[in-house]
Amino acid sequence: MAYKEKGLLIVLSGPSGVGKGTVCRALRARGTNLAVSVSATTRKPRAGERDGVDYFFKTREQFEEMIAKNQLLEWAEYVGNYYGTPLEYVEKTLESGRDVLLEIEVQGAMKVKKNYPDGVFIFLVPPSLNELKKRITNRGTESEELIENRLSVAREELEMMKHYDYVIENDEVERACDRIEAVVVAEHCRRSRVIEKYKMLTEVDGR
Ligand code: 5GP
Repeated sequence: MAYKEKGLLIVLSGPSGVGKGTVCRALRARGTNLAVSVSATTRKPRAGERDGVDYFFKTREQFEEMIAKNQLLEWAEYVGNYYGTPLEYVEKTLESGRDVLLEIEVQGAMKVKKNYPDGVFIFLVPPSLNELKKRITNRGTESEELIENRLSVAREELEMMKHYDYVIENDEVERACDRIEAVVVAEHCRRSRVIEKYKMLTEVDGR
């Protein structure tokens, strides 16, 4: 049977406020071959966000139905809302040979790691804790209480760095994107992924 390479599942995670969403949008804008999964959430849309593009916006009932029907690859409750990755899109896209990027928080990422040990796990870090505080505060879309909540969650999330394959600093968005693209290229060359593909090279008798 002809060898068919599956796409890579790339998980981009990191603490709240580090800029995962911004980096993800910048990667999308580059028009690379990466397919970016659109998550489902029960959070209310922020100004400018579009249903089906930024998220699939759901009620709690609708989301719980997706959980019950096993339609999510992973899900987590984060700062009072549900977030989850629709399963079907990811599986179909990987099967077709295209890489898929999930931009998700750390609890969800750990669930993916259990079910997809072949995934590539990237942890985005801020240049400093002060810079992280600034980014959370400057988002300006949230109340004082929510900001405090996000900050304390972010500190705990930073502890999860040790479970990831790669740590990429988001000092500047385009540079973070360059590093992510470099990781993807390297992962495509990983021996364990390509050994099957090149087996025929060692099967030619002596030539
Ligand atoms: P926000 O409300 O700022 O859009 O997202 C809050 C957090 O939820 C971010 O850390 C984001 O990465 C994460 N998130 C977005 N989609 C998903 C998802 O499908 N699953 C999980 N586990 N986290 C998600």
